[in-house]
Amino acid sequence: MPGDHNAPLPRRDGGETLEQLYRRGRKALSDRPGAEGDTPMEAALLFRGVFGLGRQELLLRGGEAASPDLAGAFWELVRRRLAGEPLQYLLGEWEFYGLPFRVGPGVLIPRPETELLVDAALEAVVGISAPALLDLCSGSGCVPVAIACRRPDARVTGVELSPEAFRYFRENASLNGAGNVTPLLGDVFALPPEVRGPFAAITANPPYIRRGELASLQAEVQREPVLALDGGEDGLDFYRRLPGLCLPLLAPGGVLLLEIGEDQGKAVAGLAAAAGFRQVEVRKDLSGLDRVVLGRR
Ligand code: GLN
Repeated sequence: MPGDHNAPLPRRDGGETLEQLYRRGRKALSDRPGAEGDTPMEAALLFRGVFGLGRQELLLRGGEAASPDLAGAFWELVRRRLAGEPLQYLLGEWEFYGLPFRVGPGVLIPRPETELLVDAALEAVVGISAPALLDLCSGSGCVPVAIACRRPDARVTGVELSPEAFRYFRENASLNGAGNVTPLLGDVFALPPEVRGPFAAITANPPYIRRGELASLQAEVQREPVLALDGGEDGLDFYRRLPGLCLPLLAPGGVLLLEIGEDQGKAVAGLAAAAGFRQVEVRKDLSGLDRVVLGRR
């Protein structure tokens, strides 16, 4: 490309141009102490969130004056990001399994490694027509909604305890047109009466962080609901109870799929086997870390 890629575009009037504003935000984000990750991408996403302009459009229209109101709104998001709010909460929406999910304070942000749980569940119901699936600890609903969107013939029930998260779950089911998902507000250890098996597969991404490690998590994760993260003293509280609870809800041959922390494979596989599951296996995510435990009834 000819010319200096980094030279600010000339102003056309007295005010700051779109390009200048974007670069000022990008610089503020990358200069923050301990800045990690892709700050140009963060700046571009926040900019798009406010101005509706992606990088391409910004290149074409960068010389235009930024409206002071929108510039103020953009700068407010940069300020909140600098104060440690997760990018995803500021954007209000995040992608998971190629689908949009609304997120905000009170709900766990969908993680890319959780796509493995969806893949494994879809694989478990290949060849079963109109399968019934259950998802526990649904949070934003990313797992049940993604499964339901990929298998329109499936019926997927999801259970979430937190009323704040549940609002996102319902919104995300309708945002993605997943009419085959039934979101239920309730406690997985006292399941709502609507939850009736037999299910072909049961998925869960329960809280699994060791309580003592919560305080040392990344600042952004500390803004997420502790209810979605706290797995008890050793992180295994849910894995002690879920297998026994799920076994009778599964059809013979039905599959339990649990997301786990990278160092929990052996322990959780042992708990699933002890509860009576067969063909227990541990799957690795794209980073090569143990991420999902599967067992068959
Ligand atoms: N994977 C999440 C994290 O590392 C934890 C999610 C969970 O506890 N289920 O922050």
